[in-house]
Amino acid sequence: MRFGAAVLRSYEDPFTVEEVRLDAGPAEGEVLVRIAGCGMCRTDLAVRRSAGRSPLPAVLGHEGAGVVVETGGPETGLSPGDHVVLGFDSCGHCRGCLGGNPAYCDRFAALNLFGGRPEHAGRFTDAAGGALAPRWFGQSSFAAYAMVQARNAVRVDPSLPLELLGPLGCGFLTGAGAVLNSFGAGPGDTVAVFGAGAVGLAAVMAATAAGAVAVAVDRHPERLAFAEKLNAVPVHAASAGLPDRIRRLTDGGAQYALDTTGSGRLINDALRALRPLGHLGLVARLHTALALEPGTLDRGRRISHICEGDAVPGLLVPRLTGLWRAGLFPFDQLIRTYPLSDINEAERDCEAGLVVKPVLIP
Ligand SMILES: [Zn+2]
Ligand SMILES: [Zn+2]
Repeated sequence: MRFGAAVLRSYEDPFTVEEVRLDAGPAEGEVLVRIAGCGMCRTDLAVRRSAGRSPLPAVLGHEGAGVVVETGGPETGLSPGDHVVLGFDSCGHCRGCLGGNPAYCDRFAALNLFGGRPEHAGRFTDAAGGALAPRWFGQSSFAAYAMVQARNAVRVDPSLPLELLGPLGCGFLTGAGAVLNSFGAGPGDTVAVFGAGAVGLAAVMAATAAGAVAVAVDRHPERLAFAEKLNAVPVHAASAGLPDRIRRLTDGGAQYALDTTGSGRLINDALRALRPLGHLGLVARLHTALALEPGTLDRGRRISHICEGDAVPGLLVPRLTGLWRAGLFPFDQLIRTYPLSDINEAERDCEAGLVVKPVLIP
């Protein structure tokens, strides 16, 4: 079949929207999904900075949501017409997967970043028959259609706004999962969130939904204003004595802090803002060595990296849509939609901080 997709052909050039080809229908265990909308995530844009690591040309996009049009048999558990949110890929067999931690799958990087299912190679080409990289995050959803493992697809209620749901499969899942799964935050807790982008604001919403108090730290006044609208206490990242300020706001220190920035200075500040036994979660990839200042880990404080919000997407996505219905997780307010043909404008707006979460509509 032939359909439109946004192709990234080099690390420097804009996306080109062009016709691509998928050579056959779903294999056993796969489903073909017509994409209704796909969020743009930082990890898509980071491909440009990964020069040589993620194979190109590729169709990126890993926050797809859409309608199942064909299945590779009844064992997929899905039927044509089902509405699905697409998550990350995992093998299903390793210790991480068997332990209910698919984000820590032994093959996570291979399957999601480097096209690690050899059976997919060569099935996806451009109009001239030139090979495209195998599925990005098991999906490649900056396109009108995506072929995925049924394992990556979470069925959702058809009355939900399908075109907006894709970011629940990665960005919003990451922030909300960190707070709800990794921290287990609840009433009476305090969560300091560093960086009020899509992941940070999802963490803020989840903290508030769980009955915790959220403090949001950012350097953009408009993002702080947005965080405040979502019931967080806003604090400018350049505030003098930032950790002290947060400790005062949180009655002696936050139980939990989430860093979405990867900034060494803010990570040290986040640790200083924690109370004893506090937990700092990191979600950004670090690009330089992390130097922790003396004393920052004293008194039982700990630090861990959190991947995909420690989530099993099939469990967390329905929880988040349930919170949305209850008015407690208004993720739709973070989204601006663009036609897929405007993907380069969406990328510019995202990099400039003009939009929190672009969603591309094919
Ligand atoms: Zn695995
Ligand atoms: Zn992502």
